[in-house]
Amino acid sequence: MPSNVYLVINVDTDPDPVSVYQEDASLLKKYGRMREILAEKAGGAAAWTVLTGPICRDRFFEPPFTGFWRELTEAGADLVLHPEEDLYGPPPGREPGTCSYYDIDHMRPLILQKVRTMRELGIPFAAYRGGYHGFTPEIGAAVKEAGIGIELSCAPGIVWEDKAAAWQGAPLTAYYMSAADQARPAAADETDALFEIPWAWDAVAPGTARPRVVGENYIINEFSTLPAMQRVWDAVAARAAATPELQIVSMVCHTYTMGQSEYEERLMAILSYAAAHGARFVTPRAAKSLFDGQSAAKA
Ligand SMILES: [Zn+2]
Repeated sequence: MPSNVYLVINVDTDPDPVSVYQEDASLLKKYGRMREILAEKAGGAAAWTVLTGPICRDRFFEPPFTGFWRELTEAGADLVLHPEEDLYGPPPGREPGTCSYYDIDHMRPLILQKVRTMRELGIPFAAYRGGYHGFTPEIGAAVKEAGIGIELSCAPGIVWEDKAAAWQGAPLTAYYMSAADQARPAAADETDALFEIPWAWDAVAPGTARPRVVGENYIINEFSTLPAMQRVWDAVAARAAATPELQIVSMVCHTYTMGQSEYEERLMAILSYAAAHGARFVTPRAAKSLFDGQSAAKA
C-alpha cells in the first residue's frame, strides 16, 4: 500500500442548484451532517467552499454561516472561495450562456472583495475554486493579488471552452502552476506561482457522461458510483506506488445531498475505501506544506 498519497476532500456547500430556495436552518443541518461524517472518516481534514454568485453574493459571508465557517476553521478545516457566476443565472446585464470567467473586470473586484471580507472577519480563505472548473491566467493573477496561494479548479483532461475550463494535459498530482498556462507547471525560476491540487482522475477518459459535470472518471460523490470512484482511487494509488514522489489529489462531495442515505453511505464508503488503500486526508494548506517540504528535502 502506498504511503505517499494524500487526498483533499473538497466540500461544495452550494445549495441544491435545481430546486427551490433553501432556508438557513436546512442548509446548516446539511452542513452539520457533512461535518459529522468528515470528522468520523477523515479527522475533519477538508476544504469547504464558500459560495458567492449572482443571487447569493453576500449570503454566505454573513451570519449564521460565518459562525459555522469559524467553527470549521477552529477545528482545522480550510475555507475556499467559490464563485459560481453562471450556475444560478448570469450576473445582471449579461446574456444567458455567456461565461463570466473570461471577464476579468467582473471577476477581479469580486475576488478581491470577497477575500477581504473573510480576512476582516478573521476567517481567511486558504484556496480558490471556480465553478465548472473555470479558470484563466487573469483569474490566477487576481487570486494571488488577493493573497491566496492555493487553487483547486483543475480537473485534468477537462476542456469546456464555454466555461473557461482548459485543463488538457494538466499534471495528475499537485504542482506549481505556470502564470501563463494553468495546465502547465511553473518554470523553475517562476516565483509566486499558485499551488494547484488537481481532482483525482483515472487518466482514462475525461468526463463525458454528463454535460458540464465530471463523472465516473473522477471522484465526485453525487455524479458517480462507489465502484467507479473506487476504480479512480485505485488508479491514483497505483501511480503513487510507482513513484517515490508525493501524490496529492482532491475529490468533491456536495452538502446538498446530506440527509439522503444513498449519498451519505456512498461518501462514507469511498472515504473508508481510500483510507484503507493508502489515502491520508489533508487540508490544502497541509498538502502545500508537505509538497514544499519534499521539494526542500530534494534541493
Ligand atoms: Zn459549486
